[in-house]
Amino acid sequence: MLSKQESIDLRGKLIGESCQLFFRKNPLKIVRANAQYMYDEKDDAYLDCINNVAHVGHCHPAVVKAGCDQMSVLNTNNRFLHDNILLCAQKILSTLPENLSVCYFVNSGSEANDLALRLAQIHTGNKDVIALEHAYHGHLTSLIDISHYKFDLPGGVGRKDHVHVAPIPDTYRGKHRDSNKSEEELGSMYAEEVRAICNKIQEKGKGVCAFIAESLISCGGQVIPPNQYFNEVYDAVRASGGVCIADEVQVGFGRIGKHWWAFQQYDVYPDIVTMGKPMGNGHPVACVVTTKEISESFNKTGVEYFNTYGGNPVSCAIANAVFDTIETENLRENAVVVGEYLLDNCQILSRKHKVIGDVRGVGLFVGIDLVKDRETREPNPKCAKFVHQRMREEHILITIDGPHSNIIKFKPPMVFTKENVDAVMSTLDRVFKEYREKSELFEVNTTRMPGYVTDGKSTKEHRPIKALLERSNIKSI
Ligand code: PMP
Repeated sequence: MLSKQESIDLRGKLIGESCQLFFRKNPLKIVRANAQYMYDEKDDAYLDCINNVAHVGHCHPAVVKAGCDQMSVLNTNNRFLHDNILLCAQKILSTLPENLSVCYFVNSGSEANDLALRLAQIHTGNKDVIALEHAYHGHLTSLIDISHYKFDLPGGVGRKDHVHVAPIPDTYRGKHRDSNKSEEELGSMYAEEVRAICNKIQEKGKGVCAFIAESLISCGGQVIPPNQYFNEVYDAVRASGGVCIADEVQVGFGRIGKHWWAFQQYDVYPDIVTMGKPMGNGHPVACVVTTKEISESFNKTGVEYFNTYGGNPVSCAIANAVFDTIETENLRENAVVVGEYLLDNCQILSRKHKVIGDVRGVGLFVGIDLVKDRETREPNPKCAKFVHQRMREEHILITIDGPHSNIIKFKPPMVFTKENVDAVMSTLDRVFKEYREKSELFEVNTTRMPGYVTDGKSTKEHRPIKALLERSNIKSI
């Protein structure tokens, strides 16, 4: 095995620099994982709160065995008859509304969303796509084009003419926030924004191709769209000739506990559902499910669909094992119980730490929104950065996301336990306290002790500050 430094050096030389790496200044070298724990090259364990891909737990023995067994017998493309793909399709369809009855197997969430857009274009004959502010739907060119999260970055490709961005339906810090309004009213106000976009498209003599959204918005900051939103949006989009795509790549497969798919909590019926990440527990397998009518339009073009690896016997054996494990280990129930416990404990923590502006979540999809001020709700990315780094030092892996990089995201493997929550909460409590002390120190330094500090950096050692630093175990400010 290469030393960690050798890995860093070689990666620097061999792998594209823009490829994302967690903790770039001091990356983690993870060499093995089990259930909700990951281990580095020194065999130090890290609690994984971020891996929504290792859905039923890292290296789950049943999933590993299913893949190995099938790999030793046959793996080939799906132009031959094979039972695994059929079993997998049956399992997926048994969890979905009846109108969603046809599957296309692919290899990644991006491929699934790209195919979903293609199906929508062919079925509707339209091109204009409506997506949400801060949304991410994949890395293919077609998806970067509709992902505000990427195309709107300073070096991004910008908004293309066929792309329309609707405001994120975030009741905490979105465009419409009004504590006197009910959730339903806010849902309608945000839906009205989409209706206005549909009208504009139609005024230009065109129709809508598709509305695409995650049913819970992850990259946008663990946002939970208000009730009524999707119901009204779906009506408006359909009235303008479009179809509705639910991107369940991050939030599907029982993560919310109560339902298999996050859209089901809103009682809406998408025309296309895309799924990926958790489906293979780390193995690349994904799927697009759609209606008979949309599938027929695709078929009528006469252009056959072929995908070398999509739906191969090994991928489907693995996906079937993931499905079975969710059921045999009652992982959806676990998501409900542990998710509620996590949410409750985050709420308790918020009573102690003013930096927590909002706590929201469903099942094992939870976010903590960090603010500078609870009244103004101004985001606090500085605190988020501090917490992210300190938690890593404490061997707990969390991620930070959202347009302001101020949301702590939890999307752990579904085997997460209440004991894991306790460990995360007590550590977060300590880390928030450290942050508060650090901020107070900074305030003391800059406002009350001129002469000792420039740009927040201590120029002279100051004894009371040193004592505080030692007490709070902060290495430097
Ligand atoms: N949709 C959503 C909501 C995602 O979060 C992602 C990946 N983060 C994708 C699509 C793309 O999936 P993949 O990386 O498997 O291509």
